Amino acid sequence: MLRSNPEELIRKTMAKFVDTELIPRAQEIDEKGEFPMEMFQKIGKMKVFGIRYPKNKGGSGGNTTLYCIICEELARGLMSVAAITAMQCLMGTNFLFHYGTEEMHEKYFLPAMRGEKVACFCLTEPEAGSDLANVNTLATETEDGFIINGMKTWVTNGPVADFYTVLCQTDPAKKLRGLNFFFIPRDTPGVSVSKPFDLLGTRTSQLSELALTNVKIPHHYRLGGEGQGLNNLLSILAEIRTMTAALAIGLQRAALADSIRYAHERVQFGRPIGKYQLIQAKIGQMATNLEASKLLTYKATKMIDNNVSCLKEASMAKYFATEAACLAGDEVTRIFGAYGYSMEYSAQRYYRDNRFLLYGGGTHEILLTNIARWAGL
Ligand SMILES: Cc1cc2nc3c(=O)[nH]c(=O)nc-3n(C[C@H](O)[C@H](O)[C@H](O)COP(=O)(O)OP(=O)(O)OC[C@H]3O[C@@H](n4cnc5c(N)ncnc54)[C@H](O)[C@@H]3O)c2cc1C
Repeated sequence: MLRSNPEELIRKTMAKFVDTELIPRAQEIDEKGEFPMEMFQKIGKMKVFGIRYPKNKGGSGGNTTLYCIICEELARGLMSVAAITAMQCLMGTNFLFHYGTEEMHEKYFLPAMRGEKVACFCLTEPEAGSDLANVNTLATETEDGFIINGMKTWVTNGPVADFYTVLCQTDPAKKLRGLNFFFIPRDTPGVSVSKPFDLLGTRTSQLSELALTNVKIPHHYRLGGEGQGLNNLLSILAEIRTMTAALAIGLQRAALADSIRYAHERVQFGRPIGKYQLIQAKIGQMATNLEASKLLTYKATKMIDNNVSCLKEASMAKYFATEAACLAGDEVTRIFGAYGYSMEYSAQRYYRDNRFLLYGGGTHEILLTNIARWAGL
């Protein structure tokens, strides 16, 4: 008997979960605007959060391709749930996994894999967005460990997280070479979390500021060797960008499917609107963009899985798939006419949620600048 292909199997499993459990509740979860803890825990029980980590270390023994298939399918159902999952699988837990002690593994990593603890990732500061050389959350080394002072912002999962992976500066004169990641449990004295931001889209993925005032942590809470923060970030940057592209594919698929269904159903001037060439052009462009996004994205995941460096391919995938998702979110609201403007239909959500994809992993101005340089400019 032929053994099932893991990619097909995981896609089928996630698609069933999305169709039966997520899509029927997507509107309600989005309207509520609260962290979807019940959904998060269900996804944890499915062993999804450990997909990138080896089985003998508490993971599920998958790879980046499987991770991106999961992100894509969840984003087809609800972008915020996909974003929360993406964070838990990769940025929120990666450095804890690689550099945490056995005790940290038991107390934080394994519960995070089971969906019992929420993780997050803190790079951005009020004065340091794209320009990470400007990060000035300071970690001062003492005999007992580090004392951390500074402010992080735009922290996905910040209001509900149990622990934070925080990018800090240990030597401001060294700029990018003085960056380090630190592990900070939420219950450490001096940690303070703002109330959730009011957001345009992905309204259940809660974001906040994180203020760190004289936060004392032991030496082993530095995740990686001294000054290795930038290298560590670069080690997962291609994966972050590829994952974002996969989220964009999920949104495109949802917008395209709704557009086709509505173009069949909606009759104007005696014919379904799908019979009109201007509507056909929109659908044709969305379908072509979707196919091109898949080719770029899964080319990059295969390169990552084969340890081939692919920051250029991942950047192109993120840029192209996200722009295509923005277009798809726009076109679906046009195809729906006035109903695209109503909160009753999902079209408006695709239009709002696509903006989420534009920022994380690099804005498109930064990506295009890099791509132009790699192209020879
Ligand atoms: C929904 C959401 C979730 C997020 N989650 C997280 C998170 O979990 N953790 C985290 O650390 N951060 C998070 N962020 C922050 C995100 O990483 C930043 O928004 C991103 O790094 C860009 O920084 P900025 O918003 O400060 O924009 P800026 O860097 O201030 O840029 C503003 C504008 O200037 C352009 N620009 C900047 N520099 C250049 C240049 N050299 N050349 C050309 N144009 C340039 C940018 O492209 C942009 O258009 C999140 C943001 C959002 C919206």
